[in-house]
Amino acid sequence: MNTHMPLFDTYKRAPLTVERGEGVWLHDVAGAAYLDFGSGIAVNALGHAHPHLVEALTEQAKKLWHTSNLYEIPGQTRLADRLCEATFADRVFFANSGAEAIECAIKTARRYFHVRGEPGRVDIITFEGAFHGRTLATIAAGGQAKYLEGFGPKAPGFVQVPFADIEAARAAVTETTAAILIEPIQGEGGIRVVSEQTLRELRALCDEHGLLLIFDEIQCGMGRTGRLFAHEHAGVTPDIMASAKALGGGFPVGACLATEDAASGMVPGVHGTTYGGNPLAMAVGNAVLDVMLADGFLETVERRALRLKQGLHGLVDQFPDVFTEVRGTGLMAGLQCALPNTQVVAALFDGHMLVVPAGDNVIRILPPLIATDAEIAEGISRLEAAARGLSASHAA
Ligand SMILES: *Cc1c(COP(=O)(O)O)cnc(C)c1O
Repeated sequence: MNTHMPLFDTYKRAPLTVERGEGVWLHDVAGAAYLDFGSGIAVNALGHAHPHLVEALTEQAKKLWHTSNLYEIPGQTRLADRLCEATFADRVFFANSGAEAIECAIKTARRYFHVRGEPGRVDIITFEGAFHGRTLATIAAGGQAKYLEGFGPKAPGFVQVPFADIEAARAAVTETTAAILIEPIQGEGGIRVVSEQTLRELRALCDEHGLLLIFDEIQCGMGRTGRLFAHEHAGVTPDIMASAKALGGGFPVGACLATEDAASGMVPGVHGTTYGGNPLAMAVGNAVLDVMLADGFLETVERRALRLKQGLHGLVDQFPDVFTEVRGTGLMAGLQCALPNTQVVAALFDGHMLVVPAGDNVIRILPPLIATDAEIAEGISRLEAAARGLSASHAA
């Protein structure tokens, strides 16, 4: 027997060997089908193997894969144009991942003050429970001990305050503060929604002190809440925003969006990437936008989300010894559990349904945005079956 394990031992994986996907279904190598309501952690927003994305990628693959950013890439300019058209932004930098998009956001904020002759303004205020990625700077921004431990000194320049605590944020502002960085809905932290009121107060606080407001919409953005970006519900805009995950629908891509003013320090030579904005990624990103910006798509997400939410509330009423609370906005939903969430994830897995655990003892329910009413109903029924089993064994 070959006991050699060639991979870094960094993941505790479920016993599922994946082979292919179609829509909301993920198939393993033995042919079993799993209802995928984790969507690769909010990445496969258009499900698996969406025909429009498959076509865009294969057509681009026949033409051109990679050139570096030494030359103009038409797909990159087009995707940036469309993102700017659809948002607050005037400028976009493309990266390969969420963490890189946040790194770019941090660098953009610091450079903004540097070129204004205020190089001492480097600190970024973040919130407890945040997740901004796994690079050395983004684990410092997230501030979670479990991700920082053992990796040496924490990168300086991040100040953390309690979740969505506007008074604590106000008290943390000093002459070295550059920006406030927040997820409008914490994903990893447990589907914790920042109230629209708090987002508006953060905007006002930034305006009052000349700070930049940075939204991390890597998980909550790109249609998941029924708007293209979650902050639109609050009627405020950031100065800088990170996007990734669903932007590529499964192809690795990240983007840092900014206003003209906020991006003013990002001049030739100060930042770059080999692969970011690569023609393959841009072809897929444009194809994702084709679908999401089509008439009625986001309205349909909102309608489906209502059905999901009704179903989840029903489960909390029916099984209060399993589920204690429904969280989230749109198709970014969470159930707080009365049992350890890992036990609930495992029971669902046995029922061939995939969800994602999160902080605060929550399971994340992140169906592809293309899930039909019938598929949402199938998800609710599998959740109900799992809850029934757990409730019985709980009571016994
Ligand atoms: C996933 C995620 C990141 C990091 O993205 P990677 O692509 O894994 O680097 C950052 N912020 C949020 C809110 C995320 O959900």
